[in-house]
Amino acid sequence: MTHEIAVIPGDGIGQEVTPAAVDVLEALEIDFEFVEADAGDAVLEETGEALPQETYDLAASADATLFGAAGETAADVILPLRDAVDSFVNIRPAKAYPGIDAVRPETDLVFLRENTEGVYSGLEDRLTQDVSTLTRVVTETASRDLAEFACDYVSEADEHDGFSIVHKANVMRETDGLFRDTVKSVADEEGVETDEVLMDAFATRVCLDPEQFDVIVCPNLAGDVLSDLAAGLVGGLGLLPSANVGPDRALFEPVHGTAPDIAGEGVANPAATIISAAMLLEYLGYDEESEAVHEAVEATLEEGPRTADLGGDASTEDVTNAVIDRL
Ligand code: ATP
Ligand code: MG
Repeated sequence: MTHEIAVIPGDGIGQEVTPAAVDVLEALEIDFEFVEADAGDAVLEETGEALPQETYDLAASADATLFGAAGETAADVILPLRDAVDSFVNIRPAKAYPGIDAVRPETDLVFLRENTEGVYSGLEDRLTQDVSTLTRVVTETASRDLAEFACDYVSEADEHDGFSIVHKANVMRETDGLFRDTVKSVADEEGVETDEVLMDAFATRVCLDPEQFDVIVCPNLAGDVLSDLAAGLVGGLGLLPSANVGPDRALFEPVHGTAPDIAGEGVANPAATIISAAMLLEYLGYDEESEAVHEAVEATLEEGPRTADLGGDASTEDVTNAVIDRL
């Protein structure tokens, strides 16, 4: 069966790193059909819409989407695109690579973040000049979907023993209480081991000793903040991939943005987007190919060539070709 892959490069270095990742996927000679579509600042300028309907429809029907980055219009592009794939979980690995400067080189974590609710419910009000409020929504349904995904995730790979539930249910008893209880009961039903860590304690403990954690399951805001903290431990956002997974399709994107300071020069590091493409391969069931891409990127990061952000002077194309040569 041919898988259809939507390719949405977007703005800035998205235009450089996304084609680089597609080159890597093409080198694998899998029967993919790539369909490219526009989104972001440049299309807004041309057409008056940051996310044309045909781009949304493509992401909503393709088997998987590879997205680069969008500039000023980021929120108008990525939020609806996550909605197009009906994403309920955001997967953010934070892994340090050999030979790359990291605060904690032993870090190897995966965050599974609830992607639809919590304080990002959008239910904010300004009651008076003095008072504003936010309604934090947690549902059993979304917590259960996330927990079931997390159980499958850790069961499918030998390297994971279970997961940590990170929450603040001692204070937010109703909302995080429901989250914690639901996730825990699903894990118990499925025979998956869990432990629980309060999110504030987690922040300290992960900085001091990241090796005590592996897979972390958490509510939306906690996942957003704590995965960025973990990004700091592994040497910044530059190498980090991410996936937004829904019931039938998924969207993969580097964590970094459009990097306007280096856009158009052909020197952006394609690693985060190529690693996102490796996650796409795994999602579609190409486990061996995914592993091969991960290994090729790791070897390239360690031995070079490297782009300027990692102290080298190689171009995006040099790095991409080096990855392809190692496949
Ligand atoms: P945006 O608003 O699109 O997020 P930004 O100015 O915040 O843009 P980021 O893309 O978030 O820029 O990047 C932050 C910094 O990291 C920039 O200096 C950028 O050059 C650098 N950077 C980010 N991604 C890469 C990459 N893939 N290769 C090299 N440098 C990068
Ligand atoms: Mg940014």
